[in-house]
Amino acid sequence: MPTIVPLTYEKREEPRLYFTSLLKNMKILVATEKPFSAAAVEGIRQIVEQAGHELVLLEKYTDKADLLAAVAEVDALIIRSDKVTAEVIEAARNLKIVVRAGAGYDNVDLAAASARGIVVMNTPGQNSNAVAELALAMMIYMARNRFTPGTGSELQGKTLAIHAYGNVGKLVGRKGKALGMRVIAYDPFITDATIFENDGVEQVASVEELYAQADYLSLHIPATAETRGSIGYERLMSMPKGATLVNTARKEVIDEEGLKRAMSERADLKYISDIAPANAAELEELFGKRFFATPKKQGAETAEANMNAGLAAARQIVDYLATGNTRFQVNK
Ligand code: NAD
Repeated sequence: MPTIVPLTYEKREEPRLYFTSLLKNMKILVATEKPFSAAAVEGIRQIVEQAGHELVLLEKYTDKADLLAAVAEVDALIIRSDKVTAEVIEAARNLKIVVRAGAGYDNVDLAAASARGIVVMNTPGQNSNAVAELALAMMIYMARNRFTPGTGSELQGKTLAIHAYGNVGKLVGRKGKALGMRVIAYDPFITDATIFENDGVEQVASVEELYAQADYLSLHIPATAETRGSIGYERLMSMPKGATLVNTARKEVIDEEGLKRAMSERADLKYISDIAPANAAELEELFGKRFFATPKKQGAETAEANMNAGLAAARQIVDYLATGNTRFQVNK
């Protein structure tokens, strides 16, 4: 009888071991213009150091030169809304992985990263609840005349329309249902109808149908080449009387001139946004209480979201350096 040698097993493991042995004692930079909470930084440090790597911190930087200098020697990078441009990628000679602690990754030049073989990841779902709660809070704030004296209205019984039913959109939908709202949603990339049905949410067939029924339109589309500037005059004008557009997605998806025109022509429309549009001062002057924007992005600014996204970013980096796991890679 010939002896059976487990060759297949050893062969399969070989590349992984090779990968692991290469990527030890790495420098991991947390570069945050708007820092994580101290507790989240401590958690990130523990994950990084327990895995045998070194944590480098660059917080509250105001000059791009500081970021360019800090990335020069590091192997991995954790960011929040910080901009990782082609120039930053160029300066980061040893960089292997960037993790955007958050959902949107439009602040990273993916093409420049891919050209250098750098893996880019996000941490999907980790801050969604914080954003969803803010979206609902924004609706109530506008319904109650921004907490100024006078008669407001209630969310119960109104139609909440959700544009994009991803991680945040789903949570907004469920919370809207809990408040007694009728919830409808549109997401052309979701083909499984049970995703909507399980939440008691009506799936509408077109974006036109969505806006035409929306007392509250909650925006959750990512900022992409296709969506930038896509929400403007036409969409707003199609909304019912007294409608409110709630934007916790990205300011870039709004056609700001179109928005201004629609709100000028219709004194019943309201707009609330998590981060000010470029023409915020003008909108404030023109529309008073019908417009509000957070001075700084607030969506993910909770202790819980900070912790969840920061720790997830650190874990994903440590795992990638140890095993090559690219599950959350966005530039495949
Ligand atoms: P996600 O990736 O889970 O969901 C995005 C959804 O958009 C997906 O279901 C996708 O199918 C859908 N989609 C993509 N293109 C679309 C299109 N053209 N039309 C309609 N639907 C489209 O992302 P998420 O976690 O739900 O976050 C959504 C967006 O919110 C992010 O891209 C980010 O820009 C923004 N965001 C903001 C904050 C904040 O602090 N305000 C925090 C987190 C996320």
